[in-house]
Amino acid sequence: MPHAFITGITGQDGSHLAEFLLGKGYAVTGLVRRTSGEYPWRLVGIRDRVTLIEGDVLDLGSLLGALEATRPDEVYHLAAQSFVGASFEQPELTANVTGLGTVRMLDAVRRVAPKARFYQASSSEMFGQPVATPQDESTPFRPRSPYGAAKAFAHHMAVNAREAHGLHVACGILFNHEGPRRGIEFVTRRITDAVARIKLGRAREITLGNLEARRDWGAASDYVEAMWRMLQHPEPDDWVVATGTSHSVAEWCEAAFAHVGLDWRDHVRVDPARRRPSDISGLVGDASRARERLGFVPKTSFNDLVASMVDADLARIAAAER
Ligand code: NAP
Repeated sequence: MPHAFITGITGQDGSHLAEFLLGKGYAVTGLVRRTSGEYPWRLVGIRDRVTLIEGDVLDLGSLLGALEATRPDEVYHLAAQSFVGASFEQPELTANVTGLGTVRMLDAVRRVAPKARFYQASSSEMFGQPVATPQDESTPFRPRSPYGAAKAFAHHMAVNAREAHGLHVACGILFNHEGPRRGIEFVTRRITDAVARIKLGRAREITLGNLEARRDWGAASDYVEAMWRMLQHPEPDDWVVATGTSHSVAEWCEAAFAHVGLDWRDHVRVDPARRRPSDISGLVGDASRARERLGFVPKTSFNDLVASMVDADLARIAAAER
């Protein structure tokens, strides 16, 4: 039975990936921070089928210990301070967790499990204000946030570990991906949560910053399969994963409110103070390489993705009030 080790298993992607790998017959071990608790909410359905080991990507010793106890065949490094907005307020923490945390993981794998295949969670935010549209694996990075800069550093260190030390490191340059397990601080989830509250009569409006911001939004439950496919490919490489279509925040609002029969213009208020210090436009991915060489094609449409998140928030809020 192959053994996978996942950092960030308590996050959106980590929980979907753990489910996916269990379905493929893997033994799954995840790194958890002590603060995550014994029963992280995203792992509720699979908690008794995965092994959790305490550790922190800020602490190399804990990573060495976790890998020695696990001896994995595949390592999926997903742990990060992953919220772009917070990275402007906490750039040093973001650099340490998201940037240096990757250096520590690569170092630990090189020492303990050098034959393991390693997945690095790179990000479209590395493209920042892009120099070309759409973006593919050869598009230069121009990050516009501390998060994007930390991810670009981590990406370069991962490629360097591949080239200098011969580690089997695949980097997934994933564009935004969402789902009902998305953190509540992200704009997509803030919107679907607000739509549910408004529909149930618990709120009247939502305040947003930049309605024109556009992203290439896919489904997290789809994209974890691409991560796995990258590690099954014989050659370690960089891979863009995207839908190839972008939508604005306004379009996300329109779809989410329409799903419950409401007009978004009656409930959305704009507050310029909520805008990011520097935002980006024109992010949309060209995932031809992943489609042609990995056979990966996203399944979930934009409207189905939005609807699944609204439905989940409606069910959660209604259940909490029963
Ligand atoms: P997420 O939901 O924010 O999950 C982040 C995970 O990292 C959580 O499990 C968190 O643990 C863990 N973590 C944070 N700090 C840690 C530390 N110091 N030590 C150990 N673990 C720590 O993120 P996600 O959306 O699943 O994304 C997964 C990865 O893909 C991240 O690296 C993200 O930057 C990257 N990515 C995401 C997207 C996207 O659109 N979702 C796009 C491109 C790349 P706790 O539960 O304890 O907080």
